[in-house]
Amino acid sequence: MTRSNILFALIGLVLLATAPFYLHNSYYIHMIGTIMIYAILLFGLDIVVGYTGQVSLGHAGLFGVGSYTAGVLFFKLGAPLWVILIASVGVTAIFGAILALPALRVTGPYLAMVTLAFGTIVQILINEMTFLTEGPLGIKVPKPAIFGMKFTEDGFYWLVLALMALSALVVDRILRSQLGRAFEALRGSPVASDCMGVSVYRYKVYAFVVSAGFAGLAGCLYAYSEQYISPNTYNFELTVLFLLAVIMGGRKSRLGSLLGAAIIVILPKLLDDLALFRSVATTLAVLMAVGAAIAISKHISTPRKMAIPVIGTAALAAFSFWLTSITDWRLSIFGLMILFVVYYLQDGIVGFFRNLLFRKARSVDADAAFDTQLDALSQAAAGRSGGDVLVAQGVLMQFGGLKALNMVDLRIKRGSIHGLIGPNGSGKSTMMNVLTGIYVPTAGSIAFDGDSVVGRTSSDIALSGIARTFQNVQLFGEMTALQNVQVGLHHTFDSNFVDVALNSSRYQRENDASVQRGLGLLHFVGLGELAGEEARNLPYGKQRLLEIARALALDPQLLLLDEPAAGLTAPDIKELITIIRKIRDHGITVILIEHHMDVVMSICDEVTVLDFGQKIAEGKPAAVQADEKVIEAYLGAPAA
Ligand code: ADP
Ligand code: MG
Repeated sequence: MTRSNILFALIGLVLLATAPFYLHNSYYIHMIGTIMIYAILLFGLDIVVGYTGQVSLGHAGLFGVGSYTAGVLFFKLGAPLWVILIASVGVTAIFGAILALPALRVTGPYLAMVTLAFGTIVQILINEMTFLTEGPLGIKVPKPAIFGMKFTEDGFYWLVLALMALSALVVDRILRSQLGRAFEALRGSPVASDCMGVSVYRYKVYAFVVSAGFAGLAGCLYAYSEQYISPNTYNFELTVLFLLAVIMGGRKSRLGSLLGAAIIVILPKLLDDLALFRSVATTLAVLMAVGAAIAISKHISTPRKMAIPVIGTAALAAFSFWLTSITDWRLSIFGLMILFVVYYLQDGIVGFFRNLLFRKARSVDADAAFDTQLDALSQAAAGRSGGDVLVAQGVLMQFGGLKALNMVDLRIKRGSIHGLIGPNGSGKSTMMNVLTGIYVPTAGSIAFDGDSVVGRTSSDIALSGIARTFQNVQLFGEMTALQNVQVGLHHTFDSNFVDVALNSSRYQRENDASVQRGLGLLHFVGLGELAGEEARNLPYGKQRLLEIARALALDPQLLLLDEPAAGLTAPDIKELITIIRKIRDHGITVILIEHHMDVVMSICDEVTVLDFGQKIAEGKPAAVQADEKVIEAYLGAPAA
């Protein structure tokens, strides 16, 4: 966190902590408490929705599991507070793992439906398992006691505040760590995550489990806060509200979660009170007009784009004064506001202001560790020399009737640059996908460093030493250049959840090292100055270079480059050739797919030519270039 963020957080905490002294109103204290409890859940939901990019409509169900774990433990066993807190988190985390299972198979609308079903089933189970949950009757849960002293309303409020602050801190640390980068990488590109050794499977489950843990904590506190729980609280409406809160408040932001929680708690109350609604709608219209004026003057937005939101909020304000009774219109207004926010503020409220205020690219001072980086690279490849690093035999890859690879043999000499060329659609990229476990070959064997690759997961293969880039660039767009490379360095972290949450010295050491190495790698490909820039904002050529840096972060023995020069300018291509040579000189074997023949001919030690999935030639570049079959394949006619 930056210094000003810490300052704001502290001011916020002090304001919240002293609220009982200046509000003197238990209704408002209870309301703020509820907001904070929801915020704890939303911190967790944001991990799943904002960072990994999965939809979950199952979080009201998880919230219910937390509440009922607390309720049942108290009602049946009279368990003390600390046992109940831990159990609620633990039990709900287990349910989170169950909820993660569908996310491993489906995404998007399908996942939304399956998670919704999960939530519904939980609600039905709570309702039906009367022997445990008392069914529709519900359970009374009095305020907890600690050291024999029962919490007062204010005391409980402070407990919630403390746990909310702690949750925010822990979530913030997780999301800044290698774990957070792994979550975010899933959203950016699952394929690339896997190929960087960050198992999509594992981190999806991880994200759901952590997220569920916080939902459990929130559910437990909610039970104590309301002092009564019953099944119909944890319904469809609540789960949609949670999702909306994350989106409206602003994903990937703790402040956004708090804001979202405040909105979903306050808005329904607001829509019960006409006078209040009028003043809020007016304020909103004024804020919107001012915001639009700033945005237009700063050239962040155009008058045309801002017209509808400004008119919309103004119309809402006018409408509020025309209304005589709000109750009939409640749902429609609520729906309209949600539609408006989701449509116009896709980054949420926090995101909107962030864009407005901090639009300048962050830049990182990057001037260290360049040489040590190269040493690290050569160390990775040292100690092994001679022989073939990769031997593929009789590889067949069939898509329906199409043989994208037809009995291809490939031997790659250690320490060489091996060109793989052929016309479009000849199976080059398919070969890379087979080598990296994205496709499992229909037949044939592939041995890397003596071990078979066939049937292993992409992340496993990546960790064993094969790194790659992609023909259609697969960066983690919302992450900075440095963070992209740090995802490649994921394998250098031994620290776990607890290290991260406690900010242990082991984690700090590993994190500092990853920053140094990341910057070193960026320097190596000439991107040192752009470390703090989001990957999606880089020019295309630089994105390709960034992919190479990220791949090198794996400390690979074998690097696969799929058309790295595509879309590069002539000077950039020269630079690229130097980089590839340097990589080889550090002992890393390179397979290079390339359409620029001059590149292939100038740097490859050996070239294999594919055509319609079959190997038609192989040998030294000059010999291959003169081969009749190759000329025929490229020109479509027999050579004269
Ligand atoms: P290259 O990289 O040499 O241009 P590719 O390896 O991308 O060619 O494709 C080889 C052939 O395999 C093409 O005909 C392509 O349409 C087909 N192909 C590649 N991937 C798939 C897939 N997942 N499903 C069906 N066909 C595919
Ligand atoms: Mg290709």
